[in-house]
Amino acid sequence: MNFPGYRLPDELLVLREQIRRIIRDEIIPIEQRIDPDAPEIPEDDYRRLAVKTQAAGLWALGAPEEYGGGGLDTFSMCVALEEMAQHRMGLYNPGCSVFGRYPPPAIWAGSKEQIRKYAEPTIRQGLKTFFAITEPSGGSDPAGAIQTRAERKGDRWVLNGRKVFISRAHDAPWGLVWARTDRAKGRAGISCFIVEQGTPGFTARNIKVIRTSAIPNDVTFEDCEIPAENLVGAEGQGLDLAFDLLVKNRFPYSACNLGVAVAAHRMAIAHAKQRSTFGAPLSQRQAIQWMLADAEVEIRACRWIIWEGAWKADRGEDARVEASMAKLYSSEVLGRVVDAAVQIHGAYGVSKEFPLERWYREARVRRIGEGPSEVHRMVIARSLFR
Ligand SMILES: Cc1cc2nc3c(=O)[nH]c(=O)nc-3n(C[C@H](O)[C@H](O)[C@H](O)COP(=O)(O)OP(=O)(O)OC[C@H]3O[C@@H](n4cnc5c(N)ncnc54)[C@H](O)[C@@H]3O)c2cc1C
Repeated sequence: MNFPGYRLPDELLVLREQIRRIIRDEIIPIEQRIDPDAPEIPEDDYRRLAVKTQAAGLWALGAPEEYGGGGLDTFSMCVALEEMAQHRMGLYNPGCSVFGRYPPPAIWAGSKEQIRKYAEPTIRQGLKTFFAITEPSGGSDPAGAIQTRAERKGDRWVLNGRKVFISRAHDAPWGLVWARTDRAKGRAGISCFIVEQGTPGFTARNIKVIRTSAIPNDVTFEDCEIPAENLVGAEGQGLDLAFDLLVKNRFPYSACNLGVAVAAHRMAIAHAKQRSTFGAPLSQRQAIQWMLADAEVEIRACRWIIWEGAWKADRGEDARVEASMAKLYSSEVLGRVVDAAVQIHGAYGVSKEFPLERWYREARVRRIGEGPSEVHRMVIARSLFR
């Protein structure tokens, strides 16, 4: 028997090239003329490019077709996002959102009416959303940490409590909030709710962090009343929804880490070729060659870990451990590759003239958000001792 190995299908190669061109010819020139810390591109540029990607069939590629998306599977989205992330604000705003935005995955467990009212406009109009799990008491272990309460009063739920580091809660029209509906039931007493911006009793205040896109917020709920029908899924099912649906999302998330690592590595190679010290280009120094060789190996290994896990998820198999591996490895590889690229660039590496400085700061957040590295190592280790 012969097995020739794997190559990307032609349609995906074409798609990848289309995205690459938009990033290179449209997104990067805009980023070069605006504030290097800008969270987004100017609104008129965003609208112009969104019209263009919609016309080209590149809008919301990963969302179901019936809701205005492209219906791509997780694997194909990983290939697409590796390209979309290769620009200055690409880690937390891939493609500057001109390829669309997605609702928090747990909404797909909602009713038809909730999907029609919240998920569909988000996809069709590219709206921002938020998801609120983390509290002052912690984010790694929400089953133990969540203190925010939701009490049923007639045809309403009343929310009281506080969430922290909630990205985009100040300017997204709606989001999902996890709250305790039954203290006695522990993990099974946490439920998920849709909360709209502007609901009385809901306030969001920006928290300044090293990341300047997708600004996080300190969010309070003070007798915040929402309709009973804003419960997503069944009462007490909240954490299962959060974890099940987040697992699949970890592959596209990891693909963005990979994309930025690829872009930083490419810059480092180009710089090493043209920069000379002590009479020879940096590319001829073994110290530099080894940094770049290590980065190349890690990038390729990272891509296969992501792809293999995404395929498993697309086949409907349990890919929880693979999702943790992809998230853990891609965020750590990203940190190492960007760090080496900064070093090779010398002072330019930490200058805002280049995207490396922003990637360096934002890469640090990737080892904490969406579950810190230690928690993913714990998930992987548990699978070894089962
Ligand atoms: C910029 C930014 C944006 C964010 N956006 C959101 C958002 O939109 N929505 C949201 O809900 N949350 C968000 N978060 C919160 C993020 O998910 C949490 O920071 C993360 O889950 C970790 O929780 P924590 O910070 O409370 O750390 P803790 O849970 O207090 O953990 C602290 C540290 O302890 C270590 N640790 C934890 N558990 C273990 C263990 N079992 N074994 C060994 N070590 C361990 C890890 O090193 C961890 O970093 C955001 C965070 C940041 C920084």
